[in-house]
Amino acid sequence: MELIPHVLIFPLPLQGPVNCMLKLAQLFCLHQEIHVTFLNTEHIQQRLLNFTDIQIRFEKYPNFKFTTVPDGLPEDNPRNGEQIRKIIEGVEEVSSPLFREMVINCEKPVTCLIVDGIFTFAVDIAKEVGIPLLYFDTISPCGLWTYLAVPKLIEAGEIPFQGNDLDALVNSVPGMEGIMRRRDLPSFCRAPDLNSPIIQLVIKEGKHIVQAQGLILNTFEGLEGPILSQLRAHCPNIYAIGPLHIQMKAKLASQCLPNTAMSNSLWKEDMSCMDWLDKQPKRSVLFVSIGSLATMSKAQFLEFWYGLVNSKTRFLWVQRPGSIIGLEENNNINVPIELSESTKERGCIVSWAPQEEVLAHPSIGGFLTHSGWNSTLESIVDGVPMICWPYFVDQQVNSRYVGEVWKLGLDMKDVCDRATIERMVREVMELRKIEFLGRAKHMSKLAIASVSDGGSSYQDLDRLIEDIRLMKI
Ligand code: UDP
Repeated sequence: MELIPHVLIFPLPLQGPVNCMLKLAQLFCLHQEIHVTFLNTEHIQQRLLNFTDIQIRFEKYPNFKFTTVPDGLPEDNPRNGEQIRKIIEGVEEVSSPLFREMVINCEKPVTCLIVDGIFTFAVDIAKEVGIPLLYFDTISPCGLWTYLAVPKLIEAGEIPFQGNDLDALVNSVPGMEGIMRRRDLPSFCRAPDLNSPIIQLVIKEGKHIVQAQGLILNTFEGLEGPILSQLRAHCPNIYAIGPLHIQMKAKLASQCLPNTAMSNSLWKEDMSCMDWLDKQPKRSVLFVSIGSLATMSKAQFLEFWYGLVNSKTRFLWVQRPGSIIGLEENNNINVPIELSESTKERGCIVSWAPQEEVLAHPSIGGFLTHSGWNSTLESIVDGVPMICWPYFVDQQVNSRYVGEVWKLGLDMKDVCDRATIERMVREVMELRKIEFLGRAKHMSKLAIASVSDGGSSYQDLDRLIEDIRLMKI
């Protein structure tokens, strides 16, 4: 009996990976021969149903199905960056046995698994059932490359750090010599102890990733060609299919389907900021957001606010609920009057924004970001220069690449004072505006070319779809 290609997709239950994998799933759905089952945790699924149109969007595809598993966390767990270990452990302990059951007993046999790169348990399940496994690492490939170099860094004695000289150069990440300082390595490299659970997890991830049949990455050759060459030495079968959000739009357009906003947000998007943006001059607004997981202290929050106000730049600031530690419990922050008055004149604050649309708006001139990989790619696509304030994991690497390698903005890592924020905002929005915008525009063109007919990401997506169609148990 001829098997129908049937992909089971399981993202890490966080905004970034879920967003990426939903886009990939929708791309598969456009190829009617491929059936897709999308596995979300119950918590994520509920939030998607609450705040997006996914139900209506995916109902159109008869070959698509959502299914859910519990994540093992109490409902009131904030599921932010500080909880990352618990989130991964919850999936391993509670969700993964149910995932295994699903793979074994699925009514329609599964012919390919696509799961997050951190799900090391999937290798054994794929082997047990005899199904091809593709990892999808939704972090940056430059970040992933440093993850894979962790054993080398340990062997060379470069981590854990001896002393505190965070500016010392690091030599054991091939291809990154002369670029990376200790402070630019992923945040977990700062752990004083190699037994730190995250370091152990990353080492495990490196060993498992090479056992899959392929690795899907959200990037494009024009941006990360040299990194992709390094990665191919480890994982020969790489599908570099990004930037996924415009790959998606390009495919919909090529099939004459509407490609208007498709939100996969886990928070309700406040659309009022789009009206506010419409009223601002071209390239005059700095967008400020630290993504879905990062947090800041109340002191940092005030430094941000003073820095923005003192720069005299217009700003649109996402203050995600729960992102300012301690603010919700005892809402006792005294916002100085000069801040609230200036914000009324030049600022707009929302709790969650339609980020892709915001970055594409002509009034946006810069992005103060935590350097999450999706945010970085979205900014690159729209030619928006960045000021980077990385929080954790691959973000320290991404911000270094933005500042030093791609030269698309400034890296503010490890600093959070109003004077630096003011200075960097002025540099990006005024003093070096033309220089940064020029480079950002060039990179944006490369991104768009990569997903256009015959571009590298376009071809890799075609190859991925073809390979999935040919996969047989
Ligand atoms: N995002 C959004 N609205 C916001 C802030 C973020 O839609 O107000 C989206 C953003 O477009 C991106 C994702 O949330 O796709 C954040 O992913 P990223 O990898 O940048 O960072 P993370 O949240 O994983 O740290």
